[in-house]
Amino acid sequence: MTILPIATVPDPILKAISTPVDRVDDQLRAFMDDMLETMYAAPGIGLAAIQVGRPIRLLVMDISEDADTRDPQYYINPVITWTSSDLATYNEGCLSVPEQYADIDRPAECRLTYLDYHGVEQQVHATGLFATCIQHEIDHLNGIVFIDYLSSLKKSMAVRKVRKLVRED
Ligand code: ZN
Repeated sequence: MTILPIATVPDPILKAISTPVDRVDDQLRAFMDDMLETMYAAPGIGLAAIQVGRPIRLLVMDISEDADTRDPQYYINPVITWTSSDLATYNEGCLSVPEQYADIDRPAECRLTYLDYHGVEQQVHATGLFATCIQHEIDHLNGIVFIDYLSSLKKSMAVRKVRKLVRED
């Protein structure tokens, strides 16, 4: 497996609108395995394909709290079909915005349909961290990064800090 380079803000690729995956085959599964490895190495709990430079509607997640029991999840062509009117606030971070965090409000629960690792259609009702994380990742597929929800001042401060961080690496 390969660790892939992760794009960071203000890389314009992060604004791309990803297109649906038309075939779930071994080649795609190999890419998903690389994405998962990249996410674990970062380390992070979610990664969208666009963050490693591929504008396709695919993301991987693992929100298990115990590092010893991995619970990898793969979401291909995820579509949110329902969101709750009540909101939840989480202090979000993002592998494309390293070391920056901000409180973001999102629907507390949502339902979605997607294709799994084997290309089988699934439905799930998400709550808690799962609901926040999946909405954050689906935003990436639409060219949205969590700092886009902040004031332009806070957003430009975050971008400036990331630029400095990446330069110093
Ligand atoms: Zn992110």
